[in-house]
Amino acid sequence: MAVERTLSIIKPDATRRNLTGKINAVFEDNGLRIVGQKRVQLSEAQAGAFYAVHKERPFYGELVSFMISGPVVLQVLEGENAVAKNREVMGATDPKKAEPQTIRAQFAESIEANSVHGSDSAENAANEIRFFFAETEILP
Ligand code: ATP
Ligand code: MG
Repeated sequence: MAVERTLSIIKPDATRRNLTGKINAVFEDNGLRIVGQKRVQLSEAQAGAFYAVHKERPFYGELVSFMISGPVVLQVLEGENAVAKNREVMGATDPKKAEPQTIRAQFAESIEANSVHGSDSAENAANEIRFFFAETEILP
């Protein structure tokens, strides 16, 4: 197993409900280290570009509006198999289908307002980290 990094976003539904610490505890309890973190208000252009892969999906416009509806917490998580590990800890996109104890099962409000984002491959993780973080903002 290799030490990897992945991009995580605590989404506006979770920052609004003051859940940053509870979600971070799940990451840390599962062996993921938060090696970069900042709370920001995304612009429409940033959110639109970040989710550009979903541009043709019917929920794209609403997803972008949701992602700019309040602050998000951008994070770089590091650990053994961090990309897959984080996806496991997050749970399924639809919280109704997420395994118990996952972040989405515990905290998500809906399939859209599902509390967290996590990169879905090592290649996307590298691109997403570069999109939001300077190397000097990542401190292992
Ligand atoms: P993320 O990319 O945020 O980590 P994911 O990889 O589990 O989530 P994707 O299929 O990439 O899911 O969808 C990106 C995001 O779009 C979801 O997390 C969710 O916020 C929103 N989304 C996905 N499917 C739907 C849907 N059917 N209706 C509304 N919003 C959706
Ligand atoms: Mg995704």
